[in-house]
Amino acid sequence: MVSPLVLVGAFSIEGDSFVPGETTLTDFQRQVWATGDEVTRDCCGSDSELAGAWDVLVAAGITPIGSVAARSSPGPRVARAVFEQVCQGILSRCTAGVDGVYLMLHGSALVIGEDDPEGWLLTEIRARVGPTVPIAISLDLHAYLTERMLASVDIVTVYRTCPHIDLYRTGEQAGRLLTRTLLGQISPVCRRVRLPMITPPERHDSAQDPFARLQAACTQAEQDGALAAGLLSTQPWLDVPELGWSAVVTTDDDPLAAEAAAERIADQAWQVREEFLHTTAIGCEQAVTEALAQPGVCTIADLGDATNGGSYGDSTELLRVLLDRQTSGQPAGPAALSVTDPVAAAAAWRAGVGSRVTLTVGTGAAGAFNEAVTVSAAVDRLWRGEIRYTHPAAYGLLDDPGDTAVLTVGEVTVIVHSRPVRVIDPAIYRAVGVDLAGLRIVQAKSHVSFRAGFEPVTDLSILADTRGPTAANLTTLPYANRPRPLFPFEDAKWPPAAKNR
Ligand SMILES: [Zn+2]
Repeated sequence: MVSPLVLVGAFSIEGDSFVPGETTLTDFQRQVWATGDEVTRDCCGSDSELAGAWDVLVAAGITPIGSVAARSSPGPRVARAVFEQVCQGILSRCTAGVDGVYLMLHGSALVIGEDDPEGWLLTEIRARVGPTVPIAISLDLHAYLTERMLASVDIVTVYRTCPHIDLYRTGEQAGRLLTRTLLGQISPVCRRVRLPMITPPERHDSAQDPFARLQAACTQAEQDGALAAGLLSTQPWLDVPELGWSAVVTTDDDPLAAEAAAERIADQAWQVREEFLHTTAIGCEQAVTEALAQPGVCTIADLGDATNGGSYGDSTELLRVLLDRQTSGQPAGPAALSVTDPVAAAAAWRAGVGSRVTLTVGTGAAGAFNEAVTVSAAVDRLWRGEIRYTHPAAYGLLDDPGDTAVLTVGEVTVIVHSRPVRVIDPAIYRAVGVDLAGLRIVQAKSHVSFRAGFEPVTDLSILADTRGPTAANLTTLPYANRPRPLFPFEDAKWPPAAKNR
């Protein structure tokens, strides 16, 4: 018997509508960019969704055909030409003889001029392979699943953990269902229910209720017969018409059961929506005061500038609070923080190690989260190289902050670097020689993930309710295209009179 062929690919990036600029080919190439036969089991990481799907397919005697694997850190819209390259690489391999398709998607990419790139790509794949070739996708639970995506796929699997530690499981599940479909054992069909709600991610924590309970409802739906069930809590910083949580369920040729199961999960989420607004975040000044009032090293999570949510990492809010305290004679550290600012980094490089410089950090107008601030600092160290993450979800991955300088202003150490990096663990600090044990305050840039990266080496964590492109207070952001009404902005109702699926 001829081995079935499954087209395999990946397009994984989380967009943020409120970050200017664009994600370039170089950004992808720094992380994952593979085409054709370069697409291998491990090209997105040995524990990735793609690796999970790959293992199942190969074990079943199916031949994976590489197309494109592209993955970059969360960030601004993807450059149009890069997306076209991704599509061209995938679509050119959608030829006769392909028996199935598996794509590892994040599910919330944004492209210049296209709010639903995954939907566009899946529609084109479907048009080429025809109606009978099964298409399976795996998604991050922060995806926003659109009508167009749903219309072209047969199987959807979704992470069940946040912080995300079940990537492999999610891909394996998609690969297994695709394999069973190719063997004629099942005829998958999926349905979803979209909720008019969006919430800040602080409580998208699968180790804590209510999120843990909702994820358990997905597991229960599978125990009750669904092939796959997922709850998409969706990343909120997307200014798109279909923004909102979704429940998505795949069943064996039973659309009514899929719909009913998705409704049950969605209904449970809707009932507890208010709980997702309960926050422990406090103002930035109060965060510093509380951090210094307690012994040990405190991680202050800068919620508005979460680089793992797409932010550029250029907020100066915490820096300004620390410098103001110092100027007024109050304790301000020892503290260490990171700011993406290529101009400031270049100025420090020009000045040289051991020099004193007066330079501007941040580029924003007065009152902006990234308000420019003038600092007189000592250039302690200049550094160039790669950082290595220790966070469980990114363990061993490398990243390149570009030219980097370590500046000290009294008790405050400011690491200015040329490109954004994830501050979900102390990688950037360790790379430049900052000893966390000698600090009272260290800045993280994430809502939830930082806990797995920083808490093993710090004594307490405080969430700072700062402004910026990843603000927890969603009402501070200039949404123009989101649906209305949408909780928590308006008094939304669910289920609506006309069903919304
Ligand atoms: Zn996510």
